[in-house]
Amino acid sequence: MTAEAAAAAVHTGRVTALAAELIRHDTRNPPGGEQPVVEPLVAALRDLGAAIEVFEPVPGRPSVLGHVGSGAGPTLLVNGHIDVVPVVEADWAVPPFGGQVRDGLLYGRGACDMKGGIAAALEGLRACRDAGVVPPATIAFHFVADEETGGRLGTEALVGSGLVKADAAVVPEPSELAVGVAERGVLMAEITVRGRAAHGSDPGVGRSAVADAARIVSALHLADFGGHVHPLLGSPTCNVGTIAGGTAANIVAAECRLRVDRRVLPGQTRAGALAQITRLIDAVGAFDYDTTVLAFAEGSELDVEHPFVAEFRGAAGHAPVRGLKLGTDARFLRNRLGIPAVVYGPGSARVAHTADEYVPVAELVAAARTFARLYATFRG
Ligand SMILES: [Zn+2]
Repeated sequence: MTAEAAAAAVHTGRVTALAAELIRHDTRNPPGGEQPVVEPLVAALRDLGAAIEVFEPVPGRPSVLGHVGSGAGPTLLVNGHIDVVPVVEADWAVPPFGGQVRDGLLYGRGACDMKGGIAAALEGLRACRDAGVVPPATIAFHFVADEETGGRLGTEALVGSGLVKADAAVVPEPSELAVGVAERGVLMAEITVRGRAAHGSDPGVGRSAVADAARIVSALHLADFGGHVHPLLGSPTCNVGTIAGGTAANIVAAECRLRVDRRVLPGQTRAGALAQITRLIDAVGAFDYDTTVLAFAEGSELDVEHPFVAEFRGAAGHAPVRGLKLGTDARFLRNRLGIPAVVYGPGSARVAHTADEYVPVAELVAAARTFARLYATFRG
């Protein structure tokens, strides 16, 4: 079996070394700067005989594109982001950009989110080559900038430029080797509540923005938005994360600001998500307030019955299908281009963005074997 021959050619030391090398190239975002990791990625792609292009919508924010194959016939896309979230160095017991292996775990910022997944995807194709297996499809690698702050300069820009064409896609974000087919979206908003200042000795004269904000918090936090419960994603949620208001104990507060994090199900729009918030607020009282959307990313999903899900699970040893708590660039591929996309990668989302981030070496290897089997068999 060519697929098993390719999987068997996955090399543990080689995939670990590549992941460690990518970790050692600091690409923290913010501030945002993916240039350091371009060179090792270009080298890895060149080694695979890829046609390479660096896409740079603004200076210093490159994405690396590589295509292996004739371009005739189907294309399988691997989309992985090369930026990582910042670190608080004092919280780390290991060097965050050291790429050290201890007790079977590879440590460093980006180990699971998601330089490990990128290394596994590349190792899968190296293994095919070593086993003499020529993938029937063109394999496209899009190693993209800017995912951690919304993807505007990465996948979204690529999609807008018309450079993304694929019959199916894999996003190797950390999924604990499960197959992610759905993810919730997010709306971050600030609510500014206005009152009327007065002397603190006579609070009935003014109108307290803090008191009004407290009622709004009660209306929004853990609110029940009704509607259907998604079989993989559950219900939408709302968290009121911050509150800041008033000027002094002896002044009736003139202003109070809240910041909320709403998670929405696939299909929910920005306007719809915001309208539900204002409806809940208006239902408890007549307040003087306005809302500002700080960020919005829509949810997305691939029908679990889509044939690519079964095909991918076959390559992944019948891994379970999951809904993911985190949002990924898969939403651009699914929602804007209709590309069937799954999220599958080594490591856990629970470890991503934390101090002492790591990826188990065994999962790097297992993911690389999945990629090798998929490349060996994918025909679109
Ligand atoms: Zn990520």
